[in-house]
Parts: sequence; structure tokens; C-alpha cells
Amino acid sequence: MAPGRIGKVLIRLRAGIVLALATLLAVVLYRPYLADWLPPARKGLPGTGASAFGERVLIVAPHPDDEALGGAGVILKARAAGSRVRVVVMTSGDGFKMAAAENSRVAAPTPADYRRLGEARHQESLAAMAHLGLSSGDILFLGYPDGGLSRLWETNWDENCPYTGLNGSRQSPYPFSYQQEAVYCGAGVVQNLAAILRDFNPTDVVYPDPNDQNHDHLATSAFVKYTLAEQNFKTKEWTYLVHRGDFPWPWKYDPNLSLHPPRALEGLDTRWHYLPLDDREKGLKLEAVKKYVTQVRVIAPFLMAFIRTNELFGSFTDPVLPGDEGSGAGNPPPILFLDPVEDTVGRELESGADLVGVGAAQAADHFTIGLATREAINPRIQYALQMRIFRPEGVQRLDLTVTGTRVKARKEAANSLDLPAGTRLEVRGKRLWLSMPAGVAAGATGILMSATAGSGDRIIDRAAWRLVRTLYKSGP
Ligand SMILES: [Zn+2]
Repeated sequence: MAPGRIGKVLIRLRAGIVLALATLLAVVLYRPYLADWLPPARKGLPGTGASAFGERVLIVAPHPDDEALGGAGVILKARAAGSRVRVVVMTSGDGFKMAAAENSRVAAPTPADYRRLGEARHQESLAAMAHLGLSSGDILFLGYPDGGLSRLWETNWDENCPYTGLNGSRQSPYPFSYQQEAVYCGAGVVQNLAAILRDFNPTDVVYPDPNDQNHDHLATSAFVKYTLAEQNFKTKEWTYLVHRGDFPWPWKYDPNLSLHPPRALEGLDTRWHYLPLDDREKGLKLEAVKKYVTQVRVIAPFLMAFIRTNELFGSFTDPVLPGDEGSGAGNPPPILFLDPVEDTVGRELESGADLVGVGAAQAADHFTIGLATREAINPRIQYALQMRIFRPEGVQRLDLTVTGTRVKARKEAANSLDLPAGTRLEVRGKRLWLSMPAGVAAGATGILMSATAGSGDRIIDRAAWRLVRTLYKSGP
């Protein structure tokens, strides 16, 4: 062997080692996302036939396109079975910068460009739904601000505290919106949803998965669950997932692949259901999705990945607030729902921000709410425990933050409660909980709760908003 050749082999070997080290580094840096990267387990999951859906199906979409991505198959099957379908589109999709820039052919869209995008997306939804057999009267556009729903849910709740959308408006500027000039506030969203529930009286409500990572989607999930609880409305509930890691992997058109839940969401209490689509239904769904022209221009591979052999739905059993047992003074409350592990962004910088569950319990003399983390509670992390407490006489909210030993109640709305007198903070290893007077939850029919962990204004991990039912029953 000539010396030059040995040198080349050595160079190649060294290049291989560098590549291996780079790969290892990439794996370590992106470890939080690995759970979403792993191929899903192909275990047998229960199929769901069209017969699972009742006579009146309400589909709630955060943006104009989610109704087709998540529910085109449901719409087709429900209509074929003679059921009625109504679609609610929460926002006009008027906050998507890339699509607004593309639509107006400008680099920096103005509020007018965002409104133009909203008007275009309204037309696209009508065209897509017409392709699936729905008429314009079957689709209700609420006109709330794209990219702003989580702000309406969290901080801009009251009508006198409206949010300003990227469309430059504090109220719906669209003549096609369900309520003319609907003010951009959370209370307004709930009023609209409650009126739609009363009017349509759905047998089934199909809405976003509470573990969806898009802020408009998770807020829509919380708004629907809130309205159902506030109205004490009984219906079958189905959730659909659009944004979670690289779901629906792979991002490409391949109608022979199946849609499986991301691995990160397996092991939670979600029950997954497969709704099979035949070739004709897949063809109709594809043509419907192509109607969302402004979206196809910028994210076609993602949209097309929803044309699969099935649609995927989740269902949940609401946990029940446990009584005395296990909640004696000094003990953390039992965990009632789990959060996916290793789903944080930037966890390497701050330990103790990866939430694994939220718990609560009601005893005779105190109520406890708390969270569990994967690593020990970190005094530099700000933890938040949030509650919407439903009572026959109305809803109250309690937004508590804990940093180190400091506990505060944030006043975000007219119905926000002060920090209950006598609230005690307990921290033990990977558990943090607050013990409060029993009156906090007394007489409540249910509590919608969530938790976050963050640093400054940055949320690092966010648990789902889930309804915890109580054994208390109102009325006769
Ligand atoms: Zn969406």
C-alpha cells in the first residue's frame, strides 16, 4: 500500500470520528425532542367506526384548515350516515406571518395584509367544506385573533381588557364573523361557544387535543372544555392532534401510511381511536386540503401528511378529585393527570422545569393542589398552578405562582381570587404543593386545572388543561 493511501484512510477515519461525535452532540442537545422523533409503537389500537358519532357533530377548529386536517373523514362519514355537522372556526388564521407575506407578496406584512389573509382563508374554508358537502351556513367563523387565543385564555379575559391582534384590531373586523365586532377577550369566546352549544345541541364535540403544542390549539381545547363545564353540557368528546413534535411523521404525502399517536403522548391517559378512511374518502380529503391555497403555498408537506389511511382521535375520562385518603396534612396530593416527560425546551439550562404531573385532593379541612417534576424542584424556576373553579353560582379563577418560597396570586380577571388566607407551600424533592382552606373547592362541581414551569416570562413546560370533577352535585 502506498503511503499516500494510508494517509487517506487515516483522514477518512478521522472524519468518521468527527461525524460520530457531532451526531452524539446533536443527540444530547436535542434529547428533549427525542420522544417525539422515535417511531410510534405499532400496537393494535381500537378502531372507531362512523357509528361512534351521533346525529349532531360539532367540530371546533382553531384555524381555517384544522377542520379538514383533523376532521374531514368525520364530516364525510357523518354526512353519509345522515347526521348533521357544524364547524366552528375560532380564528381567521390572520396571524401567520409567512402566509401573509406570501399572500400579499411583501416582506413585512402590515395589519391590512393580515386581514387580507384572514379574508382569503375564510374563502378557502368555505371551498374546502363545500367539497365535503357542507354549505356556508354549516360553518361559523368566530373571527378571534390568530396567534392570540392563549392570551385571551390567560390574560385578556374581561371585555374591558381586549387583546390587539396582528390584524391591528381589538374586535373582529370581519363582516362574516358569528358575532359582529366580537371583542377580543376570553369571556367573549365562551359566550359564543355557549350560544353555539345551546343552538346546535351536539351529540359529539370534536376539538383539539389538550396536549397539542400550538398555543391557539391548546387554548381552543381549554375554551371548549371550560364552556362544556360551565354549561354542564353532556356530550361525547373527541380530541384531535395537529401539532406535536414532528407529528404526523413523516411530513409528506403518502396516503398508504397510517396516522399514529406520537410516542411522547403514549403512556398518558389518552385513549386513542382510529377512524379508517377508504380511497374515496382519502381522495375527497386531499382535494379539500388543496383548497387551502395560502397554506399549501407555505406548508404543503405538513398538510399532505394528514391524508392517511385513518384519522386519529383521543378521548379522556375526567379524573375525580379524591377525598381524604392520601391527602393528610403534610402529604402531597395524588397525581391526577400526567404530563409527557422530557418535553421541555432548553431543559439543559434549568433543571426541575420538566413537569410530570398535576395533583389535587380535598380533605375535610383543607384543599391541596400541586405538581411533580422529573428532577428536584428548583428555587430559580417559577412554577404556576392555575384553576378555574366551577360552582353553580359562577366561575372563579385562581392563578398561583411559586418562586422559591414566595407564593403569589395573579389577578388576571374580575373573577380572580386573592391568595387564600392560610395558604401553605410545601416542597419535598420532586414535589411541590399548596395547602389551602377547604373552602377553595367547597361546593365546586369541577375544577379545570393546569401547571407551568418557567423562567421569567419564558414558559419551559406546560401541562395540559384538564377538568377534574368533584363528587359534589348541584341541584336535586
Ligand atoms: Zn391550526
